[in-house]
Amino acid sequence: MGNRMKVLFLSPEVVPFAKSGGLGDVAGSLPLSLKRLKVDVRIAMPFYRVVMEGNFKKRSIIKDLVVPLGAEKLNANIFETLLEDIPVYLIERDDMYDRPYLYGNKRGDFYDNIERFSFFSHAALRLSEDLGFTPDIIHCNDWQTGIVPALLKGPYRTSRTLSNSSSLFTIHNMGYQGIFPREKLPITGLPEAGFFHPEGLEYWGKINLLKAGIVYSDAITTVSPTYAMEIQTPEYGMGMEGILRRRSGSLYGILNGVDYNEWDPSRDHHLASYYSRKSISGKVMCKEALIKEMGLDPSVINLPLLGLVSRLDSQKGLDILVKILDNVLNLDIGMVLLGSGDEGIQNAFRKAAERHKGRIAIYIGFNESLAHRIMAGIDLILIPSRYEPCGLTQMYALRYGTVPLVRATGGLNDTVVPFDEKTIKGNGFKFVPYDAKALLDKIELAIRIFRDKKVWKQLMVNGMSADFSWDISAKAYIGLYRSIMEKR
Ligand code: ADP
Repeated sequence: MGNRMKVLFLSPEVVPFAKSGGLGDVAGSLPLSLKRLKVDVRIAMPFYRVVMEGNFKKRSIIKDLVVPLGAEKLNANIFETLLEDIPVYLIERDDMYDRPYLYGNKRGDFYDNIERFSFFSHAALRLSEDLGFTPDIIHCNDWQTGIVPALLKGPYRTSRTLSNSSSLFTIHNMGYQGIFPREKLPITGLPEAGFFHPEGLEYWGKINLLKAGIVYSDAITTVSPTYAMEIQTPEYGMGMEGILRRRSGSLYGILNGVDYNEWDPSRDHHLASYYSRKSISGKVMCKEALIKEMGLDPSVINLPLLGLVSRLDSQKGLDILVKILDNVLNLDIGMVLLGSGDEGIQNAFRKAAERHKGRIAIYIGFNESLAHRIMAGIDLILIPSRYEPCGLTQMYALRYGTVPLVRATGGLNDTVVPFDEKTIKGNGFKFVPYDAKALLDKIELAIRIFRDKKVWKQLMVNGMSADFSWDISAKAYIGLYRSIMEKR
């Protein structure tokens, strides 16, 4: 394999251009590591309004690319911007992507998401053809790109540019599947015969784009080893467990990495003070600054400061935390919450904030900079997720000397090692049953250990030594790309 491996990386969101969650982080950093490891990787994503507003330097590379969408042939303009030195192809079609949000608004998901992401999928393949870029691997991410593996086995099978391309499909969250009425199948460009059946992309009479990705890709990954096991069970598979078990020989769990250029307290410009494992004293200045910024009582400086940075979604396990919120706030602690999402959860925290003035501060909204300052300023981060494909915040927390308290699920299970008071080994706290009492018990244990400054410091240092660099995961992806290519 003398030639450089060529990868077309398709993602509906890529940091810094557009992000709604962990997928954006992954898509903005994995390709950088692949490139450093000599892969010729190129990214394609929709040209959303937020990308336009970001004023990224870009140039027009294709005008009026013809893209099939159902019975129609539509046009798209392709711009190229750069992620460091990686080409990022922005697919412009304003009636589809020039909207204030990526996937939906208060009303719910956009009604035409199957059109929007079928168009994106076809446009990515069409632009590859137009540029004569012949990818060895097309790396697809989540349901928005789920038809691509099917298209390669169907309408694009005879494409001169793409007939030798294999596909890898990565699942970042089983909870979002892209389910649409069967009448919309023609939009995808996939013929009913051969594709719309229970072994194909049909799911209880509907179209399921995540299932398309699972069924038709040459290999599947998800973002942690534990989640790769869990999704083959009814509890976590969300209806896909059967098909995933059938494909288990081609299903791999590869842990996400952390972009330490963004998340490292020794050079994080969002912080009041830099610090590191070797020189940890700056962390207390970050705590002091955070207490002031969030309007907590100054006495909290001597108490364990608990925090959450999270989408407020039933996935994140906040319902069990809400159940015991008063018990926790009656302990000698402070708490900060940064989150956006579910209004019921927001209100529960708002009401608690009224009952426990000065002890808990909440910020509802998305605030990247504040997320960094919280990560540095708190002592303990709570991540009681019902399920967690990988989770990034626990890995960020570890580097920031903030101890993670997590439920033992998915990537949380793979990255957090329970602290053992006897051996002083481990980097956090872990509870197993999805249950408010189990969560409260661990919070009480953490608070007790916090009082022993020496032991707590060792716990922090243990966490700060962990290394979740992307290069390790990128090598695992490259190994998998190779084995897919060899099987071809
Ligand atoms: P998920 O992708 O399920 O939301 P992850 O832990 O994989 O969970 O990634 C969440 C990412 O989003 C992290 O980078 C986290 O810091 C960030 N994040 C979540 N909520 C907020 C918020 N309200 N403000 C700023 N950043 C947030």
